[in-house]
Amino acid sequence: MARDERSVTPQSEDFSAWYNDVVFRAELVDRGPVRGSMVIRPYGYRIWEFLQADLDGRIKATGHQNAYFPLLIPQSYMEREAEHVEGFAPEFFTVTHAGGKELEEPLVIRPTSETIIGEMMAKWISSHRDLPLLLNQWANVLRWELRPRMFLRTSEFLWQEGHTAHATADDALAETMLALGFYQDVAVETAALATVPGEKTAGERFAGAERTFTIEAMMRDGRALQAGTSHFMGTNFAAAFGITFTGESGTAELCHTTSWGMSTRMVGGLIMTHGDDKGLVLPPAVAPYQVVIVPIGRGEQAEATLFAATELAATLQRAGIRTHVDDRPQLSPGFKFNDWEMRGVPIRLELGPRDLAAGTALMSRRLNYPQPDAAKEAIPLEAAPDVLAGELAAVQAMLAQRAADFRDDHTAVVNSWPEFVAAVAVGWALALHCGDQDCEDEIKAETTATARCIPLTGEPEQGTCVRCGKPSAYGKRLIFARAY
Ligand SMILES: [Zn+2]
Repeated sequence: MARDERSVTPQSEDFSAWYNDVVFRAELVDRGPVRGSMVIRPYGYRIWEFLQADLDGRIKATGHQNAYFPLLIPQSYMEREAEHVEGFAPEFFTVTHAGGKELEEPLVIRPTSETIIGEMMAKWISSHRDLPLLLNQWANVLRWELRPRMFLRTSEFLWQEGHTAHATADDALAETMLALGFYQDVAVETAALATVPGEKTAGERFAGAERTFTIEAMMRDGRALQAGTSHFMGTNFAAAFGITFTGESGTAELCHTTSWGMSTRMVGGLIMTHGDDKGLVLPPAVAPYQVVIVPIGRGEQAEATLFAATELAATLQRAGIRTHVDDRPQLSPGFKFNDWEMRGVPIRLELGPRDLAAGTALMSRRLNYPQPDAAKEAIPLEAAPDVLAGELAAVQAMLAQRAADFRDDHTAVVNSWPEFVAAVAVGWALALHCGDQDCEDEIKAETTATARCIPLTGEPEQGTCVRCGKPSAYGKRLIFARAY
């Protein structure tokens, strides 16, 4: 393969071309035969599995249980909650035929499962002793997508959806915030994203929810990515599906429900948070290979270094470090170095005859920060497991720090319209807003920026709307940004 075929478009030239180059060349995905569909290849699926395992552990540790509900939902279910159907109907995939015959009632392929799970909750809950009911499902969902992008917007994607029912609004709201905390922790601790947790404005709420909370992550082009959402439904779905319980006083009451989801979009988020002009940069916690060893040498020397590399890999594997030996004999070391850089492997080890004689390997990190050009470093083979475990932890922390620094450097407190326009062209604007939907819509029409969230943290502040000058709402500044 020629060198130019392997390199990726520079981010500064065209960020979305860079993104496409990376996801295809690093073999994370391929295009499916149906428009908007995505094949997740093994290297990409492994990244998802690490995110999934981390989140699943947090979900189970807090008393939730996994279950599985059907993919096909009677269309009438979808229509029971008016706002819900209005919000999702344009994205429905509908099955009208089965077994060669037209169905009496069309079936919707789940875009989300509140309705079918609500129907089951109504059946399973009768007394306050059945509450809270804490369910989670790992599944695929389908939503028709006009402008597909791999991982970020595909018609079919993978996610988990938590669905819970509670006796009181306070309990349900506490659950909503608990789930938001899962997402925040997975995003920061595992994916090393720079996120801000907050609440959505009315116009950005989930269809059918009373309150929607989100974590918004900053991408390296300054845009925001909604990386996980948690919804407080109040009694909207309970009323539509008859989810009731008999309270201690003996009267029937409506449950308060929640739902919350994190999807394969998170993989896109970490690609766009950490990647650079050489390609993918993977945080060690989600890297399929944390260390790649490239043995170097010709003839007999090649045999010796390959043997030593294989032994070293086995030692590292036993120490819990995911290690791969690149033993492709037909490729040059230079090609391999570029290839693994493009695939985002955190640490590379070179093992040549001279290193072997000295009992060392030459280590290089995929990315250095804040000094970008750190030299290769000889590490003693005997101490390799300890040294590399320390290095991987340091790289994980460094990537989170770099992302947070980037977010802070690209977030501006703005007090005038020209400042606002300049800020959202390159990053996020923290601005006061009047809370009127028309005003939000005008901002979007003019700048393509939307209200991402009302941050949970943030000092109380009053003043005038950055756009229209009317008195501000919400009691604090909102984040506005262009978003994926
Ligand atoms: Zn306004």
